Amino acid sequence: MLCNMKAIQVHRAGGPEVLQLTELPKPSPGPGQVLVRVEAVGLNFADILYVAGEYLVRTRYPTVPGMEFAGIIEALGDGVEGVQVGQRVAALGGSGGFAEYAVVSARSLLPVPPQMTAAEAAAFPVSYLTAYFALQTQARAQPGEWVLIQAAAGALGTASIQLAKVMGLRVVALASSEEKLALCKRLGAEVALLNTRSDLLDAVKNATEGRGVDVLMEVVGGEGFAQSLRMLAYRGRLLVIGSASRQMAQMYPVSLMKGNQSVMGVWLTPFLSDPAEMQAATAFLMPLVASGRIRPVVGGRFKLEEAAEAFRLVLSRKNSGKVILEP
Ligand code: NDP
Repeated sequence: MLCNMKAIQVHRAGGPEVLQLTELPKPSPGPGQVLVRVEAVGLNFADILYVAGEYLVRTRYPTVPGMEFAGIIEALGDGVEGVQVGQRVAALGGSGGFAEYAVVSARSLLPVPPQMTAAEAAAFPVSYLTAYFALQTQARAQPGEWVLIQAAAGALGTASIQLAKVMGLRVVALASSEEKLALCKRLGAEVALLNTRSDLLDAVKNATEGRGVDVLMEVVGGEGFAQSLRMLAYRGRLLVIGSASRQMAQMYPVSLMKGNQSVMGVWLTPFLSDPAEMQAATAFLMPLVASGRIRPVVGGRFKLEEAAEAFRLVLSRKNSGKVILEP
């Protein structure tokens, strides 16, 4: 029997106004796929860029957004092994999470420890894997090094503070309100600074005994990028992870020479199809989740039909942690 399900569909590029609640046929899993009854979806800044047609991959409309979610496996496609119907899993990659049901490749699943809620599980994959690949794989951050985290109270930011603390790093957190800074401090940031300060560069230098930071997680871009470069210590690594300002940045590569500094990109997507990197990442992260040393910060919960409101919350920069949709 054919069944329908609720989903949020997008027919053209735009903002929250293009998110349409609709009914679509419930999908069925093909070979190597599973059907998941979606309990919670993590809303990422990347979803907003994807809907706007501004993401790193081309958006093909109509589309159902939603690149990470958690839920219960309802059916297995041919050839799927190692997971069972009834099991709660987290899934990432692709799209289709903004719906009551989604099919996903079994290879995109992560286990969910029993103490994790569905909302926490949906908040986990993108932010923590990105934080891991940024700090551990790309920057090779070492205990005792300083890391500056932009948008530190957001989804990636809170995950990055938690991971940095586990790695023995010293954290400078930047955010746009006192309330956000208080959260960063509670999570373990040693220094928390308003990103609106006119003396931000001096404040970062002072906090690090004049050296600057060893690693900088750049997620804003635009005109602040030049200042980020000036915050780097000798042999500092600037990680280009996002461009929330949606503006171009300018740099003069020669300026990196004097301090033997590096600028490197970090994008989660290619790592997802690298089995060795994923194995290393999950071996690092899952015991930390199981022991409760890292725990996703859920920063707002909305019904599926309130997706536009959830988008507006993230765009207004008022969220702390990850905003969740619950079909
Ligand atoms: P967040 O929950 O962090 O929300 C975005 C935050 O960015 C805001 O809260 C705000 O923090 C900050 N911000 C700064 N300037 C702007 C602006 N002009 N408009 C809106 N927000 C702004 O979202 P995510 O954790 O989902 O993503 C954070 C960043 O990391 C994004 O740039 C995203 O694209 C990137 N990212 C990249 C990944 C990768 O693989 N490379 C994976 C995951 C995320 P504040 O108000 O405190 O400044």
